[in-house]
Amino acid sequence: MWRFEYLGLGLLLFFACRSISYVELDDERWVEIPYDDIQIAAEAVDSELYAELAVQRVVRTQFHVIHTAGLSSNYVIEDAEVIVRDLLAAANERLRTNAPMSLYDGEPPAVYDSHIQIATVSPAIVHHELSEQSYFIKKGPKANRYDRKTLQKYTAGQDSVLHVFLMAFDPDELTSGRQKKETTGIAFGNIIKLAGLYESGQPGWAHAGLLNHEIGHALGLKHSWNRSDGCDDTPRHPNCWVPTADGPCSAPTSNNLMDYNAHQAAITPCQIATMHRSMLQRATVGSQIVEPMRCDEADEGEPLKIMTESALDGPLVLSRDIIIESDATLHIRGDIIRRADRHITVKKGATIIWHWGESIDHCNMLSPVIRAQKGGVLIKREKSQWSL
Ligand SMILES: [Zn+2]
Repeated sequence: MWRFEYLGLGLLLFFACRSISYVELDDERWVEIPYDDIQIAAEAVDSELYAELAVQRVVRTQFHVIHTAGLSSNYVIEDAEVIVRDLLAAANERLRTNAPMSLYDGEPPAVYDSHIQIATVSPAIVHHELSEQSYFIKKGPKANRYDRKTLQKYTAGQDSVLHVFLMAFDPDELTSGRQKKETTGIAFGNIIKLAGLYESGQPGWAHAGLLNHEIGHALGLKHSWNRSDGCDDTPRHPNCWVPTADGPCSAPTSNNLMDYNAHQAAITPCQIATMHRSMLQRATVGSQIVEPMRCDEADEGEPLKIMTESALDGPLVLSRDIIIESDATLHIRGDIIRRADRHITVKKGATIIWHWGESIDHCNMLSPVIRAQKGGVLIKREKSQWSL
Protein backbone atom coordinates (compact mmCIF):
# COMPACT_ATOMS: atom_id res chain seq x y z
CA MET A 1 0.00 0.00 0.00
CA TRP A 2 2.77 2.40 0.88
CA ARG A 3 4.17 1.98 -2.67
CA PHE A 4 0.99 3.48 -4.13
CA GLU A 5 1.11 6.38 -1.71
CA TYR A 6 4.67 7.19 -2.80
CA LEU A 7 3.72 6.81 -6.41
CA GLY A 8 0.82 9.23 -5.88
CA LEU A 9 3.08 11.78 -4.23
CA GLY A 10 5.57 11.42 -7.08
CA LEU A 11 2.89 12.04 -9.68
CA LEU A 12 1.65 15.06 -7.74
CA LEU A 13 5.15 16.55 -7.61
CA PHE A 14 5.65 15.79 -11.30
CA PHE A 15 2.50 17.66 -12.29
CA ALA A 16 3.20 20.51 -9.85
CA CYS A 17 6.60 21.08 -11.48
CA ARG A 18 5.19 20.76 -14.95
CA SER A 19 2.64 23.50 -14.29
CA ILE A 20 5.32 26.18 -13.93
CA SER A 21 7.63 27.01 -16.81
CA TYR A 22 10.33 29.57 -17.39
CA VAL A 23 9.63 32.40 -19.78
CA GLU A 24 12.23 34.08 -21.95
CA LEU A 25 11.62 37.62 -23.17
CA ASP A 26 11.19 36.43 -26.73
CA ASP A 27 8.80 33.66 -25.69
CA GLU A 28 5.73 33.64 -27.90
CA ARG A 29 3.50 33.47 -24.85
CA TRP A 30 4.00 37.20 -24.28
CA VAL A 31 1.08 39.23 -25.59
CA GLU A 32 2.30 42.43 -27.19
CA ILE A 33 0.07 45.48 -26.96
CA PRO A 34 0.57 49.18 -27.81
CA TYR A 35 2.04 51.21 -24.95
CA ASP A 36 -0.88 53.64 -24.88
CA ASP A 37 -3.18 50.76 -24.07
CA ILE A 38 -1.39 49.97 -20.81
CA GLN A 39 -2.99 51.81 -17.92
CA ILE A 40 -1.74 51.82 -14.34
CA ALA A 41 -3.85 52.96 -11.40
CA ALA A 42 -2.01 55.80 -9.63
CA GLU A 43 -2.28 54.08 -6.28
CA ALA A 44 -0.69 50.94 -7.69
CA VAL A 45 2.83 52.45 -7.79
CA ASP A 46 4.34 50.77 -4.78
CA SER A 47 7.43 52.37 -3.24
CA GLU A 48 7.09 50.20 -0.16
CA LEU A 49 7.42 47.08 -2.31
CA TYR A 50 10.51 48.62 -3.92
CA ALA A 51 11.96 49.43 -0.48
CA GLU A 52 11.37 45.79 0.55
CA LEU A 53 13.55 44.71 -2.37
CA ALA A 54 16.38 47.19 -1.68
CA VAL A 55 19.78 45.55 -1.22
CA GLN A 56 22.62 46.92 0.86
CA ARG A 57 24.65 49.57 -0.98
CA VAL A 58 27.77 51.38 0.20
CA VAL A 59 28.67 54.93 -0.81
CA ARG A 60 32.40 55.71 -0.97
CA THR A 61 33.41 59.04 0.55
CA GLN A 62 36.57 60.99 1.23
CA PHE A 63 36.68 63.97 3.58
CA HIS A 64 38.74 67.05 2.74
CA VAL A 65 39.50 69.55 5.49
CA ILE A 66 40.31 73.01 4.17
CA HIS A 67 42.77 74.94 6.32
CA THR A 68 43.01 78.48 5.13
CA ALA A 69 45.97 80.80 5.75
CA GLY A 70 46.05 82.68 9.03
CA LEU A 71 42.59 81.59 10.19
CA SER A 72 42.30 81.06 13.93
CA SER A 73 39.27 78.81 13.55
CA ASN A 74 41.06 76.23 11.37
CA TYR A 75 40.44 72.64 12.39
CA VAL A 76 42.91 71.10 14.79
CA ILE A 77 43.79 67.87 12.98
CA GLU A 78 42.89 65.59 15.89
CA ASP A 79 39.55 67.36 16.28
CA ALA A 80 38.77 66.86 12.60
CA GLU A 81 39.36 63.13 12.97
CA VAL A 82 37.02 62.86 15.94
CA ILE A 83 34.34 64.97 14.22
CA VAL A 84 34.44 62.89 11.03
CA ARG A 85 34.38 59.61 12.97
CA ASP A 86 31.38 60.67 15.08
CA LEU A 87 29.63 62.19 12.08
CA LEU A 88 29.91 59.00 10.03
CA ALA A 89 28.83 56.74 12.89
CA ALA A 90 25.71 58.82 13.51
CA ALA A 91 24.90 59.26 9.81
CA ASN A 92 25.10 55.50 9.23
CA GLU A 93 22.99 54.78 12.29
CA ARG A 94 20.26 57.11 11.01
CA LEU A 95 20.36 55.52 7.57
CA ARG A 96 19.93 52.10 9.19
CA THR A 97 17.24 52.81 11.73
CA ASN A 98 15.37 55.57 9.90
CA ALA A 99 12.56 57.43 11.70
CA PRO A 100 8.78 57.52 11.24
CA MET A 101 7.47 60.60 9.41
CA SER A 102 6.05 63.15 11.84
CA LEU A 103 4.00 64.75 9.03
CA TYR A 104 2.09 62.79 6.41
CA ASP A 105 -1.13 62.65 4.42
CA GLY A 106 -3.43 59.72 5.12
CA GLU A 107 -1.70 56.57 6.34
CA PRO A 108 1.82 57.02 7.75
CA PRO A 109 4.40 55.49 5.41
CA ALA A 110 6.14 52.34 6.66
CA VAL A 111 9.66 52.76 8.06
CA TYR A 112 12.43 50.84 6.29
CA ASP A 113 16.17 50.57 6.73
CA SER A 114 17.44 52.68 3.82
CA HIS A 115 19.97 49.91 3.02
CA ILE A 116 22.53 52.64 2.31
CA GLN A 117 25.72 53.02 4.32
CA ILE A 118 28.64 55.42 4.05
CA ALA A 119 32.22 54.15 3.94
CA THR A 120 35.50 55.98 3.45
CA VAL A 121 38.29 55.29 0.99
CA SER A 122 41.93 55.52 2.04
CA PRO A 123 42.93 58.03 3.23
CA ALA A 124 39.59 58.85 4.84
CA ILE A 125 40.60 62.44 5.57
CA VAL A 126 42.87 64.68 3.52
CA HIS A 127 44.04 68.00 4.97
CA HIS A 128 44.66 70.84 2.54
CA GLU A 129 46.81 73.72 3.80
CA LEU A 130 45.99 76.61 1.48
CA SER A 131 48.17 79.63 1.15
CA GLU A 132 45.26 81.68 -0.13
CA GLN A 133 42.03 82.20 1.78
CA SER A 134 39.29 79.78 0.83
CA TYR A 135 36.09 80.21 2.74
CA PHE A 136 32.49 79.14 2.26
CA ILE A 137 30.54 82.33 1.51
CA LYS A 138 26.84 81.65 1.27
CA LYS A 139 25.38 85.00 0.20
CA GLY A 140 26.31 88.54 -0.78
CA PRO A 141 28.73 90.00 -3.32
CA LYS A 142 31.49 87.47 -2.56
CA ALA A 143 29.19 84.42 -2.52
CA ASN A 144 30.96 81.27 -3.73
CA ARG A 145 28.76 78.45 -2.55
CA TYR A 146 28.29 77.20 -6.12
CA ASP A 147 32.00 77.45 -6.93
CA ARG A 148 33.50 74.06 -7.60
CA LYS A 149 36.58 74.99 -9.62
CA THR A 150 38.64 75.70 -6.51
CA LEU A 151 37.88 72.25 -5.19
CA GLN A 152 37.99 70.19 -8.36
CA LYS A 153 41.77 70.19 -8.36
CA TYR A 154 41.56 67.96 -5.27
CA THR A 155 39.06 65.56 -6.81
CA ALA A 156 40.32 65.25 -10.39
CA GLY A 157 40.28 61.69 -11.65
CA GLN A 158 38.41 60.45 -8.59
CA ASP A 159 34.87 60.32 -9.93
CA SER A 160 34.11 57.09 -8.09
CA VAL A 161 34.19 58.84 -4.72
CA LEU A 162 31.88 61.37 -3.07
CA HIS A 163 34.16 64.17 -1.84
CA VAL A 164 33.02 65.96 1.32
CA PHE A 165 34.73 69.30 1.96
CA LEU A 166 34.71 70.73 5.47
CA MET A 167 35.10 74.49 5.16
CA ALA A 168 35.09 77.57 7.38
CA PHE A 169 33.06 80.75 7.02
CA ASP A 170 34.82 84.02 6.21
CA PRO A 171 35.40 85.80 9.55
CA ASP A 172 34.62 89.17 7.90
CA GLU A 173 31.26 87.85 6.70
CA LEU A 174 30.46 86.61 10.21
CA THR A 175 31.48 89.98 11.74
CA SER A 176 29.38 91.91 9.22
CA GLY A 177 26.36 89.71 9.95
CA ARG A 178 25.95 88.75 6.29
CA GLN A 179 26.77 85.18 7.31
CA LYS A 180 24.70 83.72 10.11
CA LYS A 181 26.34 81.44 12.66
CA GLU A 182 24.87 78.18 11.34
CA THR A 183 25.76 74.91 9.72
CA THR A 184 25.05 74.61 6.05
CA GLY A 185 25.90 72.55 3.01
CA ILE A 186 25.52 72.14 -0.70
CA ALA A 187 25.89 69.21 -3.10
CA PHE A 188 26.76 69.21 -6.77
CA GLY A 189 27.90 66.18 -8.72
CA ASN A 190 30.23 64.15 -6.54
CA ILE A 191 31.21 67.15 -4.37
CA ILE A 192 29.61 68.17 -1.07
CA LYS A 193 30.61 71.29 0.83
CA LEU A 194 29.78 71.54 4.53
CA ALA A 195 30.45 74.75 6.48
CA GLY A 196 30.16 75.97 10.04
CA LEU A 197 30.60 72.56 11.70
CA TYR A 198 33.76 73.39 13.60
CA GLU A 199 32.71 76.93 14.46
CA SER A 200 29.47 75.56 15.94
CA GLY A 201 31.42 73.78 18.69
CA GLN A 202 28.98 70.87 18.40
CA PRO A 203 30.12 67.24 18.28
CA GLY A 204 30.29 65.48 14.91
CA TRP A 205 27.11 63.44 15.42
CA ALA A 206 25.07 66.65 15.61
CA HIS A 207 25.61 67.16 11.87
CA ALA A 208 24.46 63.71 10.73
CA GLY A 209 21.19 65.04 9.30
CA LEU A 210 23.04 67.68 7.30
CA LEU A 211 25.48 65.13 5.81
CA ASN A 212 22.70 62.68 4.96
CA HIS A 213 20.65 65.50 3.39
CA GLU A 214 23.51 66.37 1.04
CA ILE A 215 24.17 62.69 0.27
CA GLY A 216 20.45 62.44 -0.48
CA HIS A 217 20.94 65.14 -3.13
CA ALA A 218 23.94 63.28 -4.58
CA LEU A 219 21.70 60.18 -4.85
CA GLY A 220 18.95 62.02 -6.71
CA LEU A 221 16.68 63.37 -3.96
CA LYS A 222 15.11 66.82 -4.17
CA HIS A 223 13.75 69.07 -1.44
CA SER A 224 10.42 67.71 -0.38
CA TRP A 225 8.39 70.51 1.21
CA ASN A 226 6.94 71.79 -2.06
CA ARG A 227 6.24 68.35 -3.45
CA SER A 228 8.12 68.68 -6.68
CA ASP A 229 10.26 65.74 -5.62
CA GLY A 230 8.36 63.03 -7.49
CA CYS A 231 7.24 61.38 -4.24
CA ASP A 232 3.66 61.23 -3.06
CA ASP A 233 4.58 60.20 0.50
CA THR A 234 6.28 63.55 1.29
CA PRO A 235 3.49 66.06 1.98
CA ARG A 236 3.62 69.75 1.07
CA HIS A 237 4.24 72.03 4.09
CA PRO A 238 5.75 75.42 5.06
CA ASN A 239 9.24 74.01 5.73
CA CYS A 240 9.59 74.96 9.39
CA TRP A 241 12.90 74.52 11.21
CA VAL A 242 11.14 73.90 14.55
CA PRO A 243 7.50 74.08 15.63
CA THR A 244 6.16 77.38 16.98
CA ALA A 245 3.22 78.06 19.29
CA ASP A 246 1.02 79.37 16.48
CA GLY A 247 1.12 80.34 12.83
CA PRO A 248 2.11 78.11 9.90
CA CYS A 249 4.79 76.38 11.98
CA SER A 250 2.55 75.23 14.80
CA ALA A 251 3.00 71.48 15.32
CA PRO A 252 3.15 68.96 13.79
CA THR A 253 6.09 69.89 11.60
CA SER A 254 8.20 67.79 9.29
CA ASN A 255 11.20 65.70 10.30
CA ASN A 256 11.93 64.55 6.76
CA LEU A 257 15.55 64.28 5.66
CA MET A 258 15.04 66.49 2.63
CA ASP A 259 13.37 69.43 4.37
CA TYR A 260 15.14 72.15 6.32
CA ASN A 261 14.31 71.14 9.86
CA ALA A 262 16.15 70.42 13.09
CA HIS A 263 15.75 66.62 12.75
CA GLN A 264 16.28 65.59 9.11
CA ALA A 265 15.74 62.02 10.17
CA ALA A 266 12.81 60.43 8.30
CA ILE A 267 13.30 58.90 4.85
CA THR A 268 10.12 57.73 3.10
CA PRO A 269 9.83 54.55 1.01
CA CYS A 270 9.66 56.68 -2.16
CA GLN A 271 12.86 58.49 -1.19
CA ILE A 272 14.57 55.15 -0.50
CA ALA A 273 13.39 53.88 -3.89
CA THR A 274 14.61 57.05 -5.62
CA MET A 275 18.12 56.72 -4.16
CA HIS A 276 18.39 53.03 -5.02
CA ARG A 277 17.19 53.66 -8.58
CA SER A 278 19.80 56.40 -8.92
CA MET A 279 22.53 53.95 -7.87
CA LEU A 280 21.34 51.40 -10.46
CA GLN A 281 20.91 53.77 -13.39
CA ARG A 282 23.65 54.28 -15.91
CA ALA A 283 25.64 57.54 -15.96
CA THR A 284 24.40 58.93 -12.67
CA VAL A 285 26.54 60.29 -9.83
CA GLY A 286 24.89 57.67 -7.63
CA SER A 287 26.06 54.80 -9.84
CA GLN A 288 29.63 56.18 -9.83
CA ILE A 289 30.08 56.64 -6.09
CA VAL A 290 28.53 53.37 -4.93
CA GLU A 291 30.48 50.14 -4.51
CA PRO A 292 29.48 47.47 -7.04
CA MET A 293 27.07 44.81 -5.85
CA ARG A 294 28.71 41.50 -5.14
CA CYS A 295 27.39 38.21 -6.43
CA ASP A 296 28.41 36.19 -3.37
CA GLU A 297 26.24 38.12 -0.94
CA ALA A 298 23.16 36.13 0.00
CA ASP A 299 19.79 37.83 -0.03
CA GLU A 300 17.35 36.99 2.68
CA GLY A 301 13.65 37.23 3.17
CA GLU A 302 10.40 35.49 2.45
CA PRO A 303 8.88 35.75 -1.03
CA LEU A 304 6.92 38.95 -1.61
CA LYS A 305 3.35 38.19 -2.56
CA ILE A 306 1.48 40.52 -4.90
CA MET A 307 -2.21 40.38 -4.01
CA THR A 308 -3.65 43.36 -5.96
CA GLU A 309 -2.48 45.67 -8.75
CA SER A 310 1.06 46.88 -8.04
CA ALA A 311 3.69 48.72 -10.06
CA LEU A 312 7.45 48.66 -9.57
CA ASP A 313 9.43 51.43 -11.23
CA GLY A 314 12.85 50.07 -12.02
CA PRO A 315 15.61 49.48 -12.39
CA LEU A 316 15.31 47.06 -9.52
CA VAL A 317 17.33 44.28 -8.00
CA LEU A 318 15.35 41.09 -7.65
CA SER A 319 16.66 40.30 -4.19
CA ARG A 320 13.69 38.20 -3.14
CA ASP A 321 11.25 35.95 -4.93
CA ILE A 322 8.06 37.65 -6.02
CA ILE A 323 4.85 35.66 -6.40
CA ILE A 324 1.99 37.27 -8.29
CA GLU A 325 -1.13 35.70 -6.88
CA SER A 326 -4.25 34.83 -8.86
CA ASP A 327 -6.23 37.93 -9.99
CA ALA A 328 -3.32 40.26 -9.11
CA THR A 329 -1.28 42.29 -11.61
CA LEU A 330 2.34 43.41 -11.37
CA HIS A 331 3.60 46.18 -13.65
CA ILE A 332 7.36 46.54 -14.07
CA ARG A 333 8.83 49.61 -15.70
CA GLY A 334 12.55 49.14 -16.16
CA ASP A 335 15.37 46.64 -15.97
CA ILE A 336 15.31 43.70 -13.58
CA ILE A 337 18.80 43.11 -12.23
CA ARG A 338 19.61 39.60 -11.07
CA ARG A 339 22.13 38.93 -8.35
CA ALA A 340 20.81 35.73 -6.86
CA ASP A 341 18.70 32.88 -8.17
CA ARG A 342 15.41 34.67 -7.54
CA HIS A 343 12.34 34.61 -9.74
CA ILE A 344 9.04 36.28 -10.38
CA THR A 345 6.31 33.63 -10.46
CA VAL A 346 3.10 34.41 -12.33
CA LYS A 347 0.42 32.17 -10.92
CA LYS A 348 -2.63 30.95 -12.79
CA GLY A 349 -5.01 33.90 -13.26
CA ALA A 350 -2.26 36.44 -12.41
CA THR A 351 -0.83 39.00 -14.82
CA ILE A 352 2.61 40.51 -15.30
CA ILE A 353 2.96 43.58 -17.52
CA TRP A 354 6.57 44.42 -18.33
CA HIS A 355 6.44 47.90 -19.83
CA TRP A 356 10.08 48.12 -20.78
CA GLY A 357 13.51 47.01 -19.70
CA GLU A 358 15.70 43.98 -19.83
CA SER A 359 16.72 41.14 -17.57
CA ILE A 360 20.28 42.01 -16.57
CA ASP A 361 22.33 39.17 -15.17
CA HIS A 362 25.75 40.09 -13.78
CA CYS A 363 26.04 36.91 -11.76
CA ASN A 364 25.49 34.11 -14.27
CA MET A 365 22.16 32.86 -13.01
CA LEU A 366 21.15 29.87 -15.06
CA SER A 367 17.42 30.29 -15.50
CA PRO A 368 15.32 33.14 -16.93
CA VAL A 369 13.88 35.55 -14.40
CA ILE A 370 10.16 34.89 -14.90
CA ARG A 371 8.27 31.66 -14.32
CA ALA A 372 4.67 31.31 -15.37
CA GLN A 373 2.04 28.84 -14.31
CA LYS A 374 -0.27 27.68 -17.02
CA GLY A 375 -2.98 30.34 -17.16
CA GLY A 376 -0.67 33.17 -16.03
CA VAL A 377 -0.95 36.20 -18.33
CA LEU A 378 2.20 37.79 -19.78
CA ILE A 379 1.97 41.21 -21.40
CA LYS A 380 4.67 43.46 -22.80
CA ARG A 381 4.84 46.50 -25.04
CA GLU A 382 4.86 46.10 -28.77
CA LYS A 383 8.18 44.87 -30.04
CA SER A 384 8.98 48.16 -31.79
CA GLN A 385 8.90 49.93 -28.44
CA TRP A 386 10.42 47.21 -26.33
CA SER A 387 13.80 47.44 -24.65
CA LEU A 388 15.08 51.01 -24.11
ZN1 LIG B 1 19.19 70.67 0.12
